[in-house]
Amino acid sequence: MTPIVIIGTGFAGYTLAREFRKLDSETPLLLVTSDDGRSYPKPMLSNALTKGKTADELALSDANAMAKTLKAEIVTNSVVSKIDPQAQVITFVDGKQLKYKQLVLAVGAKPIPINIKEIGDNAISINSLNDYSVFRAKLETANHVALIGPGLIGCEFANDLINVGKKVSVIGPDPYPMSSLLPKPIAEELKAKLAETGVNWYLETTVSEVNKHGSQGYKITLANGEVINADIIVSAIGLRPNIELADVANLDVAGGIMTDKFLQTSQPNIFALGDCAEVAGHNLLFIAPILVSARALANTLSGSLTAVKYPAMPVAIKTPAYPLVVSPPPHAAIGQWQFEPAPSGFGIKGLFRGEKNGLLGFVLSGDTLSEKQALAKQLPALLG
Ligand SMILES: Cc1cc2nc3c(=O)[nH]c(=O)nc-3n(C[C@H](O)[C@H](O)[C@H](O)COP(=O)(O)OP(=O)(O)OC[C@H]3O[C@@H](n4cnc5c(N)ncnc54)[C@H](O)[C@@H]3O)c2cc1C
Repeated sequence: MTPIVIIGTGFAGYTLAREFRKLDSETPLLLVTSDDGRSYPKPMLSNALTKGKTADELALSDANAMAKTLKAEIVTNSVVSKIDPQAQVITFVDGKQLKYKQLVLAVGAKPIPINIKEIGDNAISINSLNDYSVFRAKLETANHVALIGPGLIGCEFANDLINVGKKVSVIGPDPYPMSSLLPKPIAEELKAKLAETGVNWYLETTVSEVNKHGSQGYKITLANGEVINADIIVSAIGLRPNIELADVANLDVAGGIMTDKFLQTSQPNIFALGDCAEVAGHNLLFIAPILVSARALANTLSGSLTAVKYPAMPVAIKTPAYPLVVSPPPHAAIGQWQFEPAPSGFGIKGLFRGEKNGLLGFVLSGDTLSEKQALAKQLPALLG
């Protein structure tokens, strides 16, 4: 029997396979991955130093164990380079071909390349177990880490590195950290709390030049004239959905691989979910949307067409110096932020209310985190 093929064994690919097997134990399932197929909790990449975990310790199961659990075949270390939607065939880089009954793209996102000529490949990004291995190995002989990108992931890594005694300098053009997610008063407190732990902020500036310095370090000159001497450069400037494979197969793509609310792409029998997918206009690079998407798609693949519904899905940010939960308002939302300090003095509750006073988003920090569930219930659904 021709299998259902899932490209990708990240959280999206494996969760879909697991959900599908709950409903159908017989249809052949084949997963393909360009990596070694180990299952691991990707969110832990940015707090694994504090937890003292090596890459091997983060891995939960290898591909063989996953294949057994999922009653599936898993093809590892193999890159799919082409899809023929008419013939329902995928082609690997080595030319091998494979027919599918239905195809699911769960190919994730990749770090945005840093556009500074002098940095070249001297900056590392951490978006996989392998990347984390390289990062940890470099840290053995490094003390000072320059982190480019004061966004969510950059702040999490900054806090993690400080927790294990490293010196950290965070660089970025933004006026304050996580400026696309946090309103100013809360971002300012995050900045202050991380500074108290030792983070050096170089904001409202960019890297203008990088030169090798000493045997393994870098001299980083910033646009504002300041100079940082660091041992490692980490780039955390964001992720971009992997759309290339879909694009060459003539599937509709925008920011991500475009799907409708059934996770169906523009070609029959091809679906997408996870970081690579733009589901009815939403490209959400988080765990919670993947979980609900996987459940809906598992139903569809086993015969009951099911639309995905996205409730509001607040995200916890792993900055223990200043814990945060965010559920940002939609981009073009009209309304106003209201702020209330925590009674304890540690943290702020920020509520974004729309024109009719309805709650459209919130950010909680410090001791206000316990209000997360109650507030999430008041938010409108994102989709469905
Ligand atoms: C440092 C970090 C911290 C995070 N923290 C949080 C958090 O606290 N909370 C939260 O909700 N989310 C968090 N996230 C986001 C979350 O981890 C991701 O949304 C999720 O893991 C994405 O899963 P995925 O399966 O879509 O993609 P991936 O895990 O990237 O998997 C993609 C898979 O596709 C395969 N692949 C790609 N192209 C091909 C090809 N051409 N051929 C074959 N195989 C291919 C890859 O080998 C891989 O197996 C974090 C992300 C990072 C990087």
